[in-house]
Amino acid sequence: MIIVLNQNAAEEDVEKIKRKMISLGCEIHESRGTNYHIFGLVGDTSCIDPSLIEANRNVDRLISVQEPYKKANRLFHPEKTVVNVEGKEIGGGEFTVIAGPCSVESEEQIVSIAESIKESGAAFLRGGAYKPRTSPYSFQGLGEQGLELLKLAREKTGMPIVTELMSPDKIGKFVADVDIIQIGARSMQNFDLLKEVGKTSKPVLLKRGMSATIEELLMAAEYIMSEGNERVILCERGIRTFEKYTRNTLDLSAIPVIKKYSHLPVIVDPSHASGYWWLVEPLAKAALAVGADGLIIEVHNDPANARCDGQQSIKPERFKALMDILGKMARVINE
Ligand code: PEP
Ligand code: MN
Repeated sequence: MIIVLNQNAAEEDVEKIKRKMISLGCEIHESRGTNYHIFGLVGDTSCIDPSLIEANRNVDRLISVQEPYKKANRLFHPEKTVVNVEGKEIGGGEFTVIAGPCSVESEEQIVSIAESIKESGAAFLRGGAYKPRTSPYSFQGLGEQGLELLKLAREKTGMPIVTELMSPDKIGKFVADVDIIQIGARSMQNFDLLKEVGKTSKPVLLKRGMSATIEELLMAAEYIMSEGNERVILCERGIRTFEKYTRNTLDLSAIPVIKKYSHLPVIVDPSHASGYWWLVEPLAKAALAVGADGLIIEVHNDPANARCDGQQSIKPERFKALMDILGKMARVINE
């Protein structure tokens, strides 16, 4: 339920309404813009008598929120959320590109990729240190050493780093070392993990589970936000369908749908969505065209010998060409 307050309501009257709602057991999510002042109510609102609230002269109207997600709902927060990370904004109008290898492999690899993608205009460096692999026999990532190498690449290039957290027991280290914590598709419904990152104030890149509906993705975001962390960036990375020519099926319509129902920024991962390097460019262009706030792309200096996801990684030269095209497209779209 949302209480839309009158624009000219006095502060003390607003406070009274707030106290009343809290005494009834509701948590209040207050949002105020130039033309609105609203209380989003979270919790059991069944004990609230709508006619009594509507009778209050400081209340303009009541809106009932049908969707199960509240804090992630655009009705609770009519303005779009802009996540600021180390002075770089995600969701603020700039098209933000995160790039880097699937996994960190060596100092030489991560530093050389970081330097080249920075040169091409990427804003963030990605790289897995702890990898969620389908097979326990596949390369599992360099772990703590991988994190150290990411930090080194950040030191050398100044680019903030994005990497996946798989287990709540590493949260302290990630909060200290990482700029954006990635929650992977396989962990999207690991509710304990979501609650833990929700207790921090670190930006979270939340990837859509491979069989998750848009509503389930938004409910996963709600888990993080309900603990207090509202710095959530959503990521569409393809979903599993009957189609076999691509690794996953990129759900492009998820972008405008999420934009309609939520205020959170949303980016696209054309690499995991497609599974093939040659599909990255067309899908990246499509993501920009449908209104995504950015991309996360796998870039590798030697894809043929990559320890993970080489077939879907593009080389730094191709990444540069793609960034040039995206820059031109963005200028036309923003005209
Ligand atoms: C990744 O980004 O490296 C990754 C494993 O992606 P996803 O969780 O989307 O499969
Ligand atoms: Mn990968």
